[in-house]
Amino acid sequence: MKDQLMTPQLHEPSEETRARAHADRAAYDRMYAQSVQDPEGFWSEQGQRLDWITPFSKVKDTNFDLGRVSIKWFEDGTLNVAQNCIDRHLATRGDQTAIIWEPDDPKAEAQHVSYRQLHSHVGKFANVLKKMGVEKGDRVVIYMPMIPQAAYAMLACARIGAIHSVVFAGFSPDALSARVTGCDAKLVITADEAPRGGRNTPLKSNADKAFEKCPEGTQMLVVRRSGGAVEMVEGRDHWLHEMEDGISDDCPAEEMGAEDPLFILYTSGSTGQPKGVVHTTGGYLAYAAMTHQYTFDYHDGDVFWCTADVGWVTGHSYIVYGPLANGATTVMFEGVPTWPDASRFWQVCEKHKVNQFYTAPTAIRALMGKGDHWAEGADLSTLKVLGTVGEPINPEAWEWYDRVIGKGRVPIVDTWWQTETGGHMITSLPGAIATKPGSATLPFFGVQPVVLDPQSGAVIEKTEAEGVLAIADSWPGQMRTIWGDHDRFEQTYFSQYKGYYFSGDGCRRDGDGYYWITGRVDDVINVSGHRMGTAEVESALVAHKAVSEAAVVGYPHEIKGQGIYAYVTLMEGVEATEALRNELEAWVRQEIGPIAKPDCIQWAPGLPKTRSGKIMRRILRKIAENDYGSLGDTSTLAEPQVVEELIENRMNRG
Ligand code: ATP
Ligand code: MG
Repeated sequence: MKDQLMTPQLHEPSEETRARAHADRAAYDRMYAQSVQDPEGFWSEQGQRLDWITPFSKVKDTNFDLGRVSIKWFEDGTLNVAQNCIDRHLATRGDQTAIIWEPDDPKAEAQHVSYRQLHSHVGKFANVLKKMGVEKGDRVVIYMPMIPQAAYAMLACARIGAIHSVVFAGFSPDALSARVTGCDAKLVITADEAPRGGRNTPLKSNADKAFEKCPEGTQMLVVRRSGGAVEMVEGRDHWLHEMEDGISDDCPAEEMGAEDPLFILYTSGSTGQPKGVVHTTGGYLAYAAMTHQYTFDYHDGDVFWCTADVGWVTGHSYIVYGPLANGATTVMFEGVPTWPDASRFWQVCEKHKVNQFYTAPTAIRALMGKGDHWAEGADLSTLKVLGTVGEPINPEAWEWYDRVIGKGRVPIVDTWWQTETGGHMITSLPGAIATKPGSATLPFFGVQPVVLDPQSGAVIEKTEAEGVLAIADSWPGQMRTIWGDHDRFEQTYFSQYKGYYFSGDGCRRDGDGYYWITGRVDDVINVSGHRMGTAEVESALVAHKAVSEAAVVGYPHEIKGQGIYAYVTLMEGVEATEALRNELEAWVRQEIGPIAKPDCIQWAPGLPKTRSGKIMRRILRKIAENDYGSLGDTSTLAEPQVVEELIENRMNRG
């Protein structure tokens, strides 16, 4: 197979980036070596980045053996996450902005919340929770728009030791009630409506519907956002502003064990039924803080913007916990990238003088499809680091990000990680690691990736390797269990390959030791005995100038076992013709090789995605197989009508 896509040009960090960076290449090598040779020493030192009430004496006690899986970090230390994210900054940066809130409507005023104001808001919020009977260890579901009160709610829970479970505001009443019931929540915090892209989602009324299936006695706390009309149920529902009336903003932070749960969060549901991932207090926070500082090369005074929603782990670790633990200024954005038009992200970067910008390939591809001119009007000169997360980034989209947004001078960090991992696992570091478009590059400190043979499970020792991505030892940000189902936790992550954490992703390691995520293991295509990840073929398609997005899946093929079925979304204004279809087939054949030539290309005006923007190949596989009866769990699907359209087109093709 030709190797063009996988042997691209190295992008070395610029002199400027290197000079500013927390770590250069020598520091990375030295710290990485120490982190894996002496994890206790390394993490004991990193643990000091937090303020402890009782300092820990034990650092690491972890076991990946099936039947006895147990993960504990800093276990005898005590601390409070809200204290670490707020109180300890007051003496030195009380008047510094902690949160910049950019509302959905570009004409509405942005808010700057200082650390002192944050302290007061969170203290009041925490006292409201107490007044409503929420106690340490209780679960609280947060179903909120991207407004500062969502962060206050999370931090208020952390302050009193309640466990939050944030549910993305785009989820339906059913998805909400399943998550409320799943963790037996005492309280749901919501808002009247969630404005997004110029439209209001009726959150409160969704929550009302969800409550029809929630246990009796669950309470609701409602934040006023839009002022839209809602119905309040007497005795069950309360307005935040009424509850806060006259309440003290002084709420002492609860002393929490390092291994007490901080939050539960469901995975995106790309591959199956979402899992309620549990993260705890000390290890998670230390890991979120350290990755935020190093991966984004965050320095005091920088303005950091992660465009994710707080409903995803990315929002937890890189809008709220990591940045605030580091005393950063973090941007919270209520809107979407394409409303009122495709210049919005770049307008916001200019307006708030953003230094680090972190988004997902789905947004980059969508904006690339709209044309370069949307970015050209904005002053992007403050940008110092660009980041991406969520899916493999196609080299073509990477190059676009680099050229059109970074103007060729801003390093890109492609961060591979999962809800389960709490923070970045494989990523470049701006001043230390030269990048290759489409590769997540090298492991973060303390992370020991291994490539396993998918059949035998043996570790492939050779540098150049292709197989299943697993992790050999624990890191502090690792999930501890699945809420209420430790056995499912062990079965999902530790049963297939004994002694390793199994990521579910396939990968390839090149001769320089760089990692390339090739897609989900479940999505691997087997054409005439050749195993192929989805990312490579998709990237070849996206590399064609007419294509903005592509998804490939395997489908039954009489001769080859599996054939390649490609769904292709074209750039705005490009016409879908038979000639183009032939051209794309020839193009992939030339870019990768005859084996990768799609057997069938279907035009796709849109692709089925999770609410977090990831392509759901399991649904595309069903459509390619002509099997429409059992699409599996579709509760996390963003736009169900996309699926109907694809099915209709598929049936018309016969
Ligand atoms: P579920 O586990 O429910 O199927 P999910 O895996 O999409 O959902 P997340 O935890 O949000 O849930 O996503 C993690 C996955 O996203 C990774 O396992 C990987 O497949 C993909 N991913 C994340 N970042 C990257 C990246 N930089 N490069 C390639 N893939 C990535
Ligand atoms: Mg997953």
